Amino acid sequence: MKTTYLHNPGALKIDLMLRGIRLDDPVVKAWACGASGIDILLPQNTLVNIPCKEGFTKASPYLISKRGDDFFITDGKAEIPVSFVPRPGFYAKKTSTGVSFANIASSHGSYTVITPDPRCEFFSSKIECKYCAGNFDTEKEGARVYTIEEIIETVGAVLKEKSNGIIYLSIGFSKSDDGGMEFLKPYVTAIKKHFNCLVAVEALPPKDNRWIDETYAAGADSVLYNLEIYDKELFEIICPGRASLIGRKRYLDALTYAAKVFPGGTVASHLIVGLEPPGSTCMGIDHLTDIGVVPILPIYRPSGGSALRIEPLNAEIIIPVYKHLYKTLMAKKISFNWVRDLSMVTTPVEGRLLMGGQAADKSTLLEDFYKTKIGMKAAWGLSTLRRKLRVKDGGESAAVKKK
Ligand code: SF4
Repeated sequence: MKTTYLHNPGALKIDLMLRGIRLDDPVVKAWACGASGIDILLPQNTLVNIPCKEGFTKASPYLISKRGDDFFITDGKAEIPVSFVPRPGFYAKKTSTGVSFANIASSHGSYTVITPDPRCEFFSSKIECKYCAGNFDTEKEGARVYTIEEIIETVGAVLKEKSNGIIYLSIGFSKSDDGGMEFLKPYVTAIKKHFNCLVAVEALPPKDNRWIDETYAAGADSVLYNLEIYDKELFEIICPGRASLIGRKRYLDALTYAAKVFPGGTVASHLIVGLEPPGSTCMGIDHLTDIGVVPILPIYRPSGGSALRIEPLNAEIIIPVYKHLYKTLMAKKISFNWVRDLSMVTTPVEGRLLMGGQAADKSTLLEDFYKTKIGMKAAWGLSTLRRKLRVKDGGESAAVKKK
């Protein structure tokens, strides 16, 4: 390992999300690593969700060790103290109808994602997003719509533990023109009626802007239409359903309109880091911030059955992207208060940590390179990547290898 990131929590968070962690203590192993990784609090209140079950984590240089009651992360050269974030107590409880709250809600840091209808119709047409690791398969046994009452009970249980929690209502694709908002609207209204909490809607863009107005009118405090991939061609390859039934242009138009309807800093869109060249993600950051949208940059996490293996992807290459995000939001004076205390995503707030002590280091040089015309288009072998993705291999792209 050439570089140690242990002493910069922002950089360490990125490296841990990329490489995962090993757990040597069997008790910790059994207790800590849930289906979606392990939530750890790093120094400077930096919350991270670290993969610990996936195959690639076996090669991670990071190890959690326990001495007495204390936990440490080491990279073999040094170590830092960390703490485990306890699993929410409501995960062990059920609704009055007998559904485990853990099946309905997933909490990480300040936000809790609730998906009242755990299905996405892209699956039935076999045009689902190639990275999708969610349980949104309409064919899946047991998938059912949760009632408003069940969701209200769930939100009540969440807020009992996280009084300042933000509820994200998410929905997959449905063939209706409203982006799923007609279905979600009574849930939003009921939550806002029963609780004094912030609600974000994570949906697909409706065909008609009227539904964006309706989303705001229903009481949503924030809305996310996740473009996921900025590069036009890669978007079409990786997100065939989104590209053919919604279209990249509609994403950008809907986001532009939403940013005029919702308060500043509350309209956001994901761009997944690792599914396109960093220079392309930087172009996406520039475009989204130009229209007043906050880019959120989750790191692609390969998971069993749906792994897009695109190499190379390391912290040294992608840290400049997060720096670019932070600097751009600051320069354009876009508020990013909504996007904080998230364990699954490196937030713009943590971009500040990455800037610490930066002079003309290697990251700055890379970041400057991404800003050049050639860097935007050619960095990280875009043409090679496209070619790989286009090559058919038994019905699958060569770079889209199912693990
Ligand atoms: S829209 Fe894409 S990522 Fe979202 S649930 Fe459907 S297939 Fe998965």
